[in-house]
Amino acid sequence: MNTYSDEDIAARLSAKGIRPSVQRMAILKYLAEHKTHPTVDMIYTALAPLIPTLSKTTVYNTVQQFDECGLIQSIQIEDGELRYDADTSDHIHFKCTVCGKVYDIFEHAPVIPDIIPEGFTVQKTQTNLWGVCPSCQNGGPADTHRT
Ligand SMILES: [Zn+2]
Ligand SMILES: [Zn+2]
Repeated sequence: MNTYSDEDIAARLSAKGIRPSVQRMAILKYLAEHKTHPTVDMIYTALAPLIPTLSKTTVYNTVQQFDECGLIQSIQIEDGELRYDADTSDHIHFKCTVCGKVYDIFEHAPVIPDIIPEGFTVQKTQTNLWGVCPSCQNGGPADTHRT
């Protein structure tokens, strides 16, 4: 796990014109350090014991603000719930339907804009794949393996 200094996290926020409050710093730091593509619930559950004043609404509003200014990206890989990723580079997400983990795949993405008709401008592409990860194909981790 990479760790990030408070200065680094504060600088990322300031670069987008966002005031680096304690809560915003903690949320961005968590996302930068955990490549698990957490949901709002997962971020809240992890940070609430450290920041007693944190509310789920604050987490929700904060990640939405980060997403809007391009500091993080949101991933629509399951019904109803968005996941968040501090890595905003182009990459593919692979969700294992057995253990539920979302993996990053950094192989070159297919160039979708080539097939877009004249007159349309692509601003963002997102590719999601669903399947079974190598560890689940080999019997799976004991705690998540379904029998
Ligand atoms: Zn799996
Ligand atoms: Zn990712």
